[in-house]
Amino acid sequence: MAGAGLSDPGLLRQAAWIGGLERVGETWIEVTNPANGQVLGRIPDLGADAAQDAVAAARAALPAWRGLTARARAVILRRWHDRVMESRSDLARLLTAEQGKPLAEAEGEIAYAASFLEWFAEEARRAYGDIIPGHQADRRLLVLKQPVGVVAAVTPWNFPAAMVTRKVAPALAAGCTVVLKPSELTPFTALALARLAAEAGVPDGVFNVVTGAPAPIGEVLTGSPDVAKFTFTGSTAVGKRLAAACMGTVKRVSLELGGNAPFIVFDDADLDAAVEGLMASKFRNTGQTCVCANRVYVQAGVHDAFAAALAARVAGLRVGDGLAGPTDQGPLINAAALDKVERHVAEALTGGARVLAGAQRLPGEGCFYAPTVLADVAPGALINREETFGPVAGLVRFTTEDEVLALANDTRAGLAAYVYTRDLGRSWRVSEGLEAGMVGLNTGLISTEVAPFGGVKESGLGREGSRYGLDEFLESKTVCLAV
Ligand code: NAD
Repeated sequence: MAGAGLSDPGLLRQAAWIGGLERVGETWIEVTNPANGQVLGRIPDLGADAAQDAVAAARAALPAWRGLTARARAVILRRWHDRVMESRSDLARLLTAEQGKPLAEAEGEIAYAASFLEWFAEEARRAYGDIIPGHQADRRLLVLKQPVGVVAAVTPWNFPAAMVTRKVAPALAAGCTVVLKPSELTPFTALALARLAAEAGVPDGVFNVVTGAPAPIGEVLTGSPDVAKFTFTGSTAVGKRLAAACMGTVKRVSLELGGNAPFIVFDDADLDAAVEGLMASKFRNTGQTCVCANRVYVQAGVHDAFAAALAARVAGLRVGDGLAGPTDQGPLINAAALDKVERHVAEALTGGARVLAGAQRLPGEGCFYAPTVLADVAPGALINREETFGPVAGLVRFTTEDEVLALANDTRAGLAAYVYTRDLGRSWRVSEGLEAGMVGLNTGLISTEVAPFGGVKESGLGREGSRYGLDEFLESKTVCLAV
């Protein structure tokens, strides 16, 4: 059981959370540990009725919540932040058990998740409107910022804590109420967060969590006229379908979808820094982050030195159960993810790629794949066209700046991109030329609560985190006053 080993076993909740009450149903979904296949517990497989009840609870709670002062909401969010940080070790254990990432990474994610609660507690008080000079002498124009209303949020399994707070914190700060459907693969972290929110004083109905098979719940959340805003993080295919469904009731929509990040190393780069940047960007969370480097372009002059240094670093990674001891890399989330990685690597090898490290599934019960480096990957290989979502760095050699920019932009995705160079002019040219929502310049880590996060092209709509993240949950209302 996932509750074993927690200092507060009450954080393991095997029930949905609707209107301040726990709810179970007739059927259940088992949650397993990807490191060993063991069943951790179960969640109720709720459907449309429960989703409707959650929307009704959020709607009923809305007037009182939005009627509070921003400061009163901020105090509650701040208390929620503090409860999360006090429970950091327990939350990290739950997260690692259901998701697989090493415990140290899980603790890092809990702190990152808490940072959104803190940030938006502060931002809650800065939802300023505008006063615009009148268009006629006897007119005054005001723009009021008001909460959009009930928000429906759907989150993925790769960051079971941070993807929840990155949506719920700004929504609550703005004065909205929320119905969350977390991934059925990693629901326990979300349910524990809801428990801590209630302890922190988030009123009943303000934050609801519905568990179950995605489709029936999704139909209610995207179709209900009582939901004003739909915010989704997950795959591009699912996000497009759900966004289309939202148009039946013309909801506000935010999408954080898949990426296919290029990681570009120029001849003039600091190679040690570039290797470390790629290690962080590519192998964190077993390569299962939307901003992961997915395609690695290395200029011809440093290609071989970079490849050798990277392969040596990757060969030293410790792979194993994140709860069992110090590890650098945990399992993939499930057998389907393992199959996809194997398929991508096999296709690259058929196309002429060479193995510099790894390239095999590891024995045992869990979904483990060896950290892998491939060289001479064809630019058109599957691994360069689709998000591999696994611990595989595929290197492509390039010659000129124009050539690599064209390769980097040759995709419908546009989330993150990374560039290593010490040339100032090139830094600007390439950062401006990349079709991406975020660029890491001489760094492989770009995520923070203080900067906007989001993509262009088919990687998404809208921004999360930062002051822009609050706007996603506010409407602008114009008041035109005759004086
Ligand atoms: P997914 O699309 O399979 O699932 C995401 C969520 O959608 C889950 O909660 C799932 O249960 C739900 N879902 C699926 N079908 C649904 C339906 N019909 N109705 C309602 N909900 C439905 O994605 P995933 O495999 O969980 O997550 C990995 C993907 O998420 C990757 O593509 C990754 O790049 C992306 N991601 C993007 C960001 C970002 O900020 N851009 C962040 C993290 C992950």
